[in-house]
Amino acid sequence: LFQNAAYFASAHHLHELPKEDGCAEVAFAGRSNAGKSSAINTLANHNRLAFVSKQPGRTQLINFFTISENAYLVDLPGYGYAKVPEAMRKHWQHVLATYLSTRPSLRGLVLVMDSRHPLTSLDRQMLDWFGPTGKPIHVLLTKSDKLSRSEAMKTLAAVRKELNENWGSCTAQLFSSLKKQGVDEAEKIIAPWLAA
Ligand code: GDP
Repeated sequence: LFQNAAYFASAHHLHELPKEDGCAEVAFAGRSNAGKSSAINTLANHNRLAFVSKQPGRTQLINFFTISENAYLVDLPGYGYAKVPEAMRKHWQHVLATYLSTRPSLRGLVLVMDSRHPLTSLDRQMLDWFGPTGKPIHVLLTKSDKLSRSEAMKTLAAVRKELNENWGSCTAQLFSSLKKQGVDEAEKIIAPWLAA
């Protein structure tokens, strides 16, 4: 699905977002260090598409990657890094809330969470912003290689339950960039968003 992804553009402000004319896009969000860049790189089968091991909190841009004609993968800035100055935090809260709740070409949200610390308060904030759009949300519980099989299954069941109780029809899966596990499962969910 993301095999041919290539960098397209970056935006720091809402007015810098690419024109929407007939485009479909899927956005990836997550807490800093959750494993979002690694997950994007794994899904794209590309080592450095999204920049791994950047300084936390420093990738403060919305990055657009073309994945096919008229389809984008959108890498949203990681949130929750403690040392971000208040003014920057406010700026990104506004940009993310507006982008997630008002962008017509956005077809769905992939929310990346560290499977050891799922559903942090900021993850819930993202769900609260995006849930009301009625568009699909898919949660990648990544770094699942750090959990035992039974811990991972327990986490997955608990997260699914909580998602569906609070934000309607969300899906969730285990994912590991290290072990390259969960790629097919994620593509099966995301591909139809872009095709529709
Ligand atoms: P981001 O800030 O959300 O983009 O997170 P990164 O993708 O940069 O990953 C943060 C840290 O977690 C890095 O040290 C990665 O090597 C590590 N990491 C990411 N994904 C995995 C995974 O699936 N398994 C393990 N064990 N480590 C991971």
